[in-house]
Amino acid sequence: MSIALFTLGGTIAMGGVDPGAQGVVTRLTGEDLTAAVPGLAEIGLPLDVRDAHAVPSADLTYRQLLDVVDTASRAVTAGATGVIVTQGTDTLEETAFLADLVWPHDAPLVFTGAMRNPTLPGADGPANLLAAARVTAAPSTRGLGVLVAVNDEIHAARWVRKTHSTSTGTFSSPNAGPVGHVIEGRVRVLARPERRVPLPRVDTGRLDATRVALHTATLDDDALLLGGVADACHGLVVAGFGVGHVRPALAPVLGALAERMPVVLTSRTGAGSVLRHTYGAIGSETDLRRRGLVDGGLLDPYKAKVLLRLLLAAGVDRDGVVAAFADHG
Ligand code: ASP
Repeated sequence: MSIALFTLGGTIAMGGVDPGAQGVVTRLTGEDLTAAVPGLAEIGLPLDVRDAHAVPSADLTYRQLLDVVDTASRAVTAGATGVIVTQGTDTLEETAFLADLVWPHDAPLVFTGAMRNPTLPGADGPANLLAAARVTAAPSTRGLGVLVAVNDEIHAARWVRKTHSTSTGTFSSPNAGPVGHVIEGRVRVLARPERRVPLPRVDTGRLDATRVALHTATLDDDALLLGGVADACHGLVVAGFGVGHVRPALAPVLGALAERMPVVLTSRTGAGSVLRHTYGAIGSETDLRRRGLVDGGLLDPYKAKVLLRLLLAAGVDRDGVVAAFADHG
């Protein structure tokens, strides 16, 4: 019995400055990270450390994440109790959701990171890593899918968002709240999100060639930037105003795109769902649905983009995309 720990870089590991440069870069290995957390030994499970990548999380790719999930999956099949992934917080809401969409095990896969790097007073990496280890080792987190443990809170990957650029309490789940907490070292699970069937296996060759664009509606927007989407992309996510609205001028452009590729409608607000049948103006949710846009439900634009790219890379057809968004959204 052990916990597999994969390190991917990020602020939690940014403990050094390159000569002649300014600002921290990734320096710490998994051994360094675990050595900084004496309480880890009390978990009672050895950590099997694998340094997978040492990059800012902006530099991670879907392919790298899928490889980590595959290796993590083999570790669980070989007997690991669960898996921790440390990485930068910037893209963690996307990577954790990506992993959740394909993770087939009851064993927990827990992402964590840090907002204050190890050179700063009050660096939060060690506490977050300890919390992640406790969450991974706790029997109550089995069957919860992929989790994020930061700031002594436990979030479901499918709901979590990075909501602040610097706060150590940056992660929250606006639509649901945390599914649990770590209190005096004890893992308390308060909600058990329903698990989805893992997505069909992605064809990694097709993944690299699959492009999904994200267009955010903004005041007085025009359709110019959507011009290149039809030829360059295989899918589009629209982050609409409010409940899923765009400027009327964009509606026919999006409708034409929806005839060629899946176009998913989400909200740019950061919480809540797009609606289905409330507003009737051109560019409203009813109009866009009539033009063939797919309802993204409660999924935020970033998560919708992850889901759509994985579906397209798995060769799922339009009906399958609609069904998957009905299920996950
Ligand atoms: N820029 C960093 C990253 O995502 C921020 C962090 O780790 O919190 O790699």
